[in-house]
Amino acid sequence: MADTKYIFVTGGVTSSLGKGIIAASLAKLLQARGYKTTIQKLDPYINVDPGTLNPYEHGECYVTDDGAETDLDLGHYERFLNVNTSQANNVTTGRIYQSVIEKERRGEFLGKTVQVVPHITNEIKERIQVLGKSGEYDIVITEIGGTVGDIESLPYIESVRQLMWELGDNNGLVIHLTLVPYLSAAGELKTKPTQHSVKTLMESGIKADILVCRTEHELSDDLREKLALFCNVKREAVIQSIDASTIYDVPNLMLEEGLDNVVLKKLALKDDSQPDLTRWNQFLDRHKNPKDEVHIGLVGKYVELQDSYKSILEAFIHAGAENEVKVKVEYIHSEHIDTKVLQDKIASLDGVLVAPGFGERGIEGKIDVIKYVREQNIPFLGICLGMQMAVIEFARNVLAIKDANSTEMNPDTANPVIDLMEEQKDITHMGGTMRLGAWDCNLEAGSLVNKIYAADTISERHRHRYEFNNKYKDQIEAAGLKATGLNPETGLVEVVELPTHPWFVGVQYHPEYKSTVANPHPLFVGFVKAALQHKVNK
Ligand code: GLN
Repeated sequence: MADTKYIFVTGGVTSSLGKGIIAASLAKLLQARGYKTTIQKLDPYINVDPGTLNPYEHGECYVTDDGAETDLDLGHYERFLNVNTSQANNVTTGRIYQSVIEKERRGEFLGKTVQVVPHITNEIKERIQVLGKSGEYDIVITEIGGTVGDIESLPYIESVRQLMWELGDNNGLVIHLTLVPYLSAAGELKTKPTQHSVKTLMESGIKADILVCRTEHELSDDLREKLALFCNVKREAVIQSIDASTIYDVPNLMLEEGLDNVVLKKLALKDDSQPDLTRWNQFLDRHKNPKDEVHIGLVGKYVELQDSYKSILEAFIHAGAENEVKVKVEYIHSEHIDTKVLQDKIASLDGVLVAPGFGERGIEGKIDVIKYVREQNIPFLGICLGMQMAVIEFARNVLAIKDANSTEMNPDTANPVIDLMEEQKDITHMGGTMRLGAWDCNLEAGSLVNKIYAADTISERHRHRYEFNNKYKDQIEAAGLKATGLNPETGLVEVVELPTHPWFVGVQYHPEYKSTVANPHPLFVGFVKAALQHKVNK
């Protein structure tokens, strides 16, 4: 097998330009031409992983099958490529330093002074090449988080410089994503910020091979010529990335600009095939031409920042396209629930999703919403904390266990219907200690979830500490809330559903992490279908 080729994606001028989407779109095009491609994100912060970050800081924490708590860009990679990522696909400065310091303590550096160059940069280079050396990929795309010129990014940039030199011609290339702002007073697009950021890269010894220029307006030929000349790239390597109405348009926009061709040529790979985007374009066609519309409430406490629920929102896009309906998500803050919100807002919805979350804030609002949708027969999907709240609501209002609670919210409750597992009780460290990653779940024959998944055993990803307390299982089931999904080894309850309700499902796991364009998640597809049915019946 030929050696793996490496593509590095850096960002200039400003953050939030969408490096993750550009990387995922390029990967999609290369994959659609038959190249085995994966993407990796290097994050310059000192947290070991984003698991300890508040969603307001960094958006959603995305969880992989192997239980890694990672950057939300990995979600884009999986949704675009329909391949699994793992811990190796997300590296942070914290993880790099942790590993170098552990090696130092073990005496592995043989008495040497441990320094950023070469020890930190060697560790970074090793992490970049882990995926390439696995032999599974023709091409590895490595996205460098942050913006060039940042102090935090320097060791990564230096590692890219060294690797480009070591890899030699045709084996690596650098794409620099930059902003070409429009000055309305001058009526012009300006290239100077891009020139400066390319210069900053050059100062670190890296020559950009391709410029991807984020812009609100079309780049003229003259402007492209100018960028090519002043930034030292080929004319065809100036790629326009114009604002798109959906991120799912970006692969086609990059195809029109010829990004994949330029990349393949530079890497001396065959470029005579045409990317096969049939399935992708079918999805886009359905997404853009819905036949109906449903309104689904997303009840959570992080609704001000949509990135907090990224995977849920994307799963709705996939499930909407599958059902040929537009899913309009209405954000409902769980701390602002009162009778008026229930009657004016929740009553008019076609479905309600109660979101995952941590801590006490907003939980009583979630419980009130669940009571309302349970009684009013409005389709309901509870995810993780949302499922736990459904169990508490049921125990309180149907079984009349008034003080039923989770020990997360009230450690002294006399009725912990949601409780810590024994092995979680002694944990004092916060990072990476939850029940994480993929776990099997057996579905009860004939249950709603059994039909929806069309499977008896499923595997879904978890990220939580607390669990349905099996001491209450018989009582809860006898009153009508059925545990229809169980972990085969531990008997932990993974799914609850209400057979007397048109569509009421709570899941302890996170189905949203596994929804992709090619494989919309069955639970979301089923939920959107139920919402549509509810709308028709109204
Ligand atoms: N806070 C809850 C737990 O730790 C739910 C977590 C979640 O919603 N991801 O069990």
